[in-house]
Amino acid sequence: MAVKKPRAYRRIVAKFGTNLLTAGTAQLDLKVMSGLVGQVARLRQNGVDVIIVTSGAIAAGRHRLSMHEEKRDGQASARKELRLRQVLASVGQSHLMQSYDRLFAKHGLIVAQTLLTRRDLADRVGYLNTRNTLLSLLELGVISIVNENDVVAVEEIEDSHIGDNDNLSALVANLVDADLLALLTDTAGLYTADPRRDSDAQLIPRVDRITPEIEQLAGDSETAHGVGGMITKLQAAGLACGGGADVVIASGHEPNVLERLAQGEALGTFFPATTDRLESRKRWMRAGLAARGKIIVDAGAAKALLSHGKSLLPAGVCEVVGRFDRGDTVSIYGDDGHRIAIGITNYGHEEVTAIRGVRSDRIARILGHQYGAEVVHRNNLVLL
Ligand code: GLU
Repeated sequence: MAVKKPRAYRRIVAKFGTNLLTAGTAQLDLKVMSGLVGQVARLRQNGVDVIIVTSGAIAAGRHRLSMHEEKRDGQASARKELRLRQVLASVGQSHLMQSYDRLFAKHGLIVAQTLLTRRDLADRVGYLNTRNTLLSLLELGVISIVNENDVVAVEEIEDSHIGDNDNLSALVANLVDADLLALLTDTAGLYTADPRRDSDAQLIPRVDRITPEIEQLAGDSETAHGVGGMITKLQAAGLACGGGADVVIASGHEPNVLERLAQGEALGTFFPATTDRLESRKRWMRAGLAARGKIIVDAGAAKALLSHGKSLLPAGVCEVVGRFDRGDTVSIYGDDGHRIAIGITNYGHEEVTAIRGVRSDRIARILGHQYGAEVVHRNNLVLL
């Protein structure tokens, strides 16, 4: 019988949780961090793209300010607690980055910090700019280290579980078209019961569909130091799988866990992607964003888009209808009145009107600036 070769991944988003990075203590554990950093460095050397989504800022800040875990005795108001955690995150973030910076420097690698809120990604221009920045950093071989911008992101550190780093990592995985999201934590994966309380608890190796029964297994396993628990990990898994990435929840303490996962080894709990990536991008554009305007193109441009997989250049644009901004979704029509594509425009309606029919090398002269040679890049285009 032929043995199926395990899948090797090319682009991984690795999320490191607080309990992993602190090894359950009150401060960052540099040994743990160094092990994870070494794995990322080796993957990078082997041509695998890795983007890190990290927690640990609040824990680092608490340690730096010598503050002990605040008691949740119901006396301190939620607002006060939130403010304190935002302060702690602000202090701790630089310490967290400094630790990564030093550890990656030992491997000759440079790190970049990206602090995001969900609002930044819900905004289409923000989404595009974040994506462009992260992809450019990958091309430069710089290691991107992402965290939620806790100072402004109230949802994350309030109890609402909307904006924890698990969900953030899924958004980032979709954003950069990762083929694997590795949620690394201090437990080996999803269990049939809480393994800390029930010795019969068994690891679930694979989840094809996140059913209500599976959600129930996650229970309320929120942990002391981090924000997320199994529930947010399942939410993240659902989000990333729907965007076309495989997801694994695994223990970050497992030796060489990231490298082994990258080779397709079965570790922890595996959630296979539920759509292919192209389809998910189509779905994202169709479902997520309403087209704001119309760009009508000539026959040559229509053919270039439809038959040759090309981007839409200003030279092929005949007419602009409606108002839209850079980053909005627009419909693209042939001159016969048929809608042929939907895409995200690099230029607003006034800019496209000004550069329609001209060669791309004249964009900067006409506008005084430019965001690229394409009105709509083919990566941001869905043919209908
Ligand atoms: N962003 C928080 C931190 O860096 C952690 C959030 C989370 O654990 O989900 O401390």
